[in-house]
Amino acid sequence: MVPDETAGRACGICSIVEGIRAGTFVDWVAELPRSWLTLGDAQFYRGYCVLLAKRHVTELHAMPRGEVHELLDEILAVGRTLAEVLKPLKLNYECLGNQEPHVHWHIFPRYRNDPMRLAPVWLRAETERKVSLEKSDRDELIAAIRGELVRRLPTARIG
Ligand SMILES: [Zn+2]
Repeated sequence: MVPDETAGRACGICSIVEGIRAGTFVDWVAELPRSWLTLGDAQFYRGYCVLLAKRHVTELHAMPRGEVHELLDEILAVGRTLAEVLKPLKLNYECLGNQEPHVHWHIFPRYRNDPMRLAPVWLRAETERKVSLEKSDRDELIAAIRGELVRRLPTARIG
């Protein structure tokens, strides 16, 4: 039997959410009715966001159906927001959860000038992917995302 490497330790996503609630998580973008939106740590893909479900469940299908639909509406609003703000060639949406047992979505803008644009983002070396933005650039990007998101989803809380 394969050991469950996530058993018996605290959920990393629940601890991020604790940080958001405490106001100490600097990459927080918005609170939506069913999720939290954060800016991801791989800004090689400028605008990469991670959407964290409010409910701690391991699988999407473990959520009540109506709640999944509301969450998908939020993902749509975030996708449309990133498309408008960043004008990517393509958005990649991924709901993985292999490392953290809590439903979350990676939303990666992909750009024409990326020579690896046909490949999954995870094939790029972590050291190349995990680029941080300068504080002023990050603040500007978060402000642009918030402005567009609130226009599309007035229930979003951004401050
Ligand atoms: Zn959790």
